Amino acid sequence: MLLIECPWCGPRAESEFTCGGQADIVRPREPEQVSDQEWGDYLFMRKNTRGMHREQWLHTHGCRRWFKATRDTVSYAFQGYETFGGKDAKDARDARDAQEGKQS
Ligand SMILES: [Zn+2]
Repeated sequence: MLLIECPWCGPRAESEFTCGGQADIVRPREPEQVSDQEWGDYLFMRKNTRGMHREQWLHTHGCRRWFKATRDTVSYAFQGYETFGGKDAKDARDARDAQEGKQS
């Protein structure tokens, strides 16, 4: 079974997650100024990387939060996780615990 580490909940089974595809896609600042080709590329064109790939994941059957992961598409090995705010997994859990009044 593949384990995925939610930055807030820790390692969980893959079946709890939904992959949201490639991460770090930037929406054009002024969409009305881009050509139809550029808009189509933004909406539909994604990398099909062999090797390290940045993806966004949703902890669907857990905390329901989105996060980013770096995964090797050949071996399926995850190399790292971070929140959309740029925190790594430990920092995210520490922030959650502090917010909930827990000590780590
Ligand atoms: Zn979670």
